[in-house]
Amino acid sequence: MFDLTTATVLYSLLLAVFFLSLWIYYDRRDHAQFEAERRRTIFHCVRCDSVYAKRGELGEGACPHCGHTNGRLRF
Ligand SMILES: [Zn+2]
Repeated sequence: MFDLTTATVLYSLLLAVFFLSLWIYYDRRDHAQFEAERRRTIFHCVRCDSVYAKRGELGEGACPHCGHTNGRLRF
């Protein structure tokens, strides 16, 4: 079917594509994890006057001290 050179080139290309897709996959996954870790929303509780942060982009979050739901802090 193929001669040895063609087979070797095809094999090398497949291997390269395989490792490239693995690299891209893990790079994107790590970046997404880093972004999720980095993005925090800061809240200020109007009931007990404490400042707290929650992970992710949230509109509102419950206070860990008194449970009162507060809107996000805007600067
Ligand atoms: Zn509170």
